[in-house]
Amino acid sequence: MKILLIVCDGMGDRPCEELAGKTPLEAAYTPNLDLLASEGMCGLMDTIGVGVRPGSDTSHLSLFGYDPKEYYTGRGPFEAAGAEMQLQEGDLAFRANFGTVDENLVVTDRRAGRIDDVTGLCEAVDGLEADGVKFIIKAGTGHRAGLIMRGEGLSHCISDNDSHEEGAKILEVKPLDGTPEAKKTADALNTWVMKAHEILRDHPVNKKRIEDGKPPGNMILERGPGMLGKVPSMQERYGLKAACVAGAGLYKGVAKVVGMDLYTPEGATGKKNTDVKAKVNKAVELLNGEYDYVFIHIKATDNFSHDGDPKGKRDFIEKIDNAVAPLLELKDTVVAVTADHSTPCSIKNHSGDPVPLLIWGPDMRTDDVGEFGERPCGKGILHRIRGLDLMNELLNQTARSRIYGA
Ligand code: ZN
Ligand code: ZN
Repeated sequence: MKILLIVCDGMGDRPCEELAGKTPLEAAYTPNLDLLASEGMCGLMDTIGVGVRPGSDTSHLSLFGYDPKEYYTGRGPFEAAGAEMQLQEGDLAFRANFGTVDENLVVTDRRAGRIDDVTGLCEAVDGLEADGVKFIIKAGTGHRAGLIMRGEGLSHCISDNDSHEEGAKILEVKPLDGTPEAKKTADALNTWVMKAHEILRDHPVNKKRIEDGKPPGNMILERGPGMLGKVPSMQERYGLKAACVAGAGLYKGVAKVVGMDLYTPEGATGKKNTDVKAKVNKAVELLNGEYDYVFIHIKATDNFSHDGDPKGKRDFIEKIDNAVAPLLELKDTVVAVTADHSTPCSIKNHSGDPVPLLIWGPDMRTDDVGEFGERPCGKGILHRIRGLDLMNELLNQTARSRIYGA
């Protein structure tokens, strides 16, 4: 028996005025998801804990059965892994992006005019050392990059150099605890930031941008420092050969860290224009092949919520429903459809509301829920579980769990 997990990012919502008091999922016409719900079992899930507002990174760890309290120190390593950088134990990783500063180091554009390619700029500073620490940087999409500090005795307990506002000077990185590791890390990062700035300031790409009247990418802003310890793979932990089908970097990163192979079919953009059908078809192909567990991530539900667009979210959920039709033909597979957190359109941000969950498979108890939605799922047989329970339940439903005791 195989497992397919579909996570529609931020799909959980609250009743919307624009949708006559329904949530986008309740308002959407979803015959396929409703059929899965009626043949399977439903419930609500707190991906981290009751009332906790989850980030996407911590919630995904939890959905894969990895306690974020044990494995999470910051977002950086997952972004770096998603950008296909090779992390080593003890590396400190950041989210980074190119911005523009003036001669007084005041940030005039946090995204360097949304510069579309920073490959050349990254190459100019990649591998630079400061205070005995090596700095590895790789271009991401647009103005973004992944940044790794590699050396002895580093700490993630340091502040950002990103002031998160324009018109303010970049911040000096400070140690956030009294350890020599935090001080060493902050000092090295401060030294590197200025070294890199001096190289970038005079780089031909930036000279050309200034000539063209565009803001140069002359400053690297860092945030989300995190250090990764030893993470057992899903193969080691559950005996599952696992794959991820996703377009957006962070989710690929979390999946890669827990040992999944990454697939991004053509058209899977991680944005509103993504090809959901291509993702589902890829997942079916992988399940029919050598994989025991496939995770599909669909990002845009969350984007519509952050934009406060419940009708757009409803329509996108209908697109998901249409794409999942081939799943009804799957044999010997347990399918779970859920979200990593709720992102109510009314607040345009993540909330601690539990998410709807359906689990469908050939041999399981069922309930009377006939529609996939927040309110119907609240009446389901799974009741209200935690994100960390999901993996156990999926292993149980696929007869893969080990007996506890004798
Ligand atoms: Zn999310
Ligand atoms: Zn979000």
